[in-house]
Amino acid sequence: MQQYTFEDMQKMDRSRLGNMVPLELFRTIRLIGMNQGLPMGGKGTTLTVGRKIGESLPVKSVDELLALFEELKIGIPQIVYSDEHKINIAVEDCFCKGLPTLEEEKMICDLEGAILEGALTKLYGRRVSVREIKCNATGDEYCEYEVKL
Ligand SMILES: [Zn+2]
Repeated sequence: MQQYTFEDMQKMDRSRLGNMVPLELFRTIRLIGMNQGLPMGGKGTTLTVGRKIGESLPVKSVDELLALFEELKIGIPQIVYSDEHKINIAVEDCFCKGLPTLEEEKMICDLEGAILEGALTKLYGRRVSVREIKCNATGDEYCEYEVKL
């Protein structure tokens, strides 16, 4: 079966509305559609979806991955710590920046972490795990992921 690739996603011919959709649509899909619409807050599904997206990204290095992450306007990632066991990636201007903190404080950028996980697992050629450890939505100044190598 023929399937769409990430390169197909970049082929656009939309003369009046252009190649952007508003951030509120992305947030609505992410938080109302996936997080609130799927069973169990969409936990497992979100990871599966994110990893698949990450694997589909045409990147050949961590630098290329971080550049694409920013180009796709998910956020502005920066490596803030790195040794042979782990990498910490802080993300400024994450898609979640500015959202109110809910009563049940929850980190919400699991899809984005799973995208990194899928891409990094492919780049390193072995299972890499990514966990969100800071999030704007829980009152942090920025979002941050811990990558276990
Ligand atoms: Zn975030």
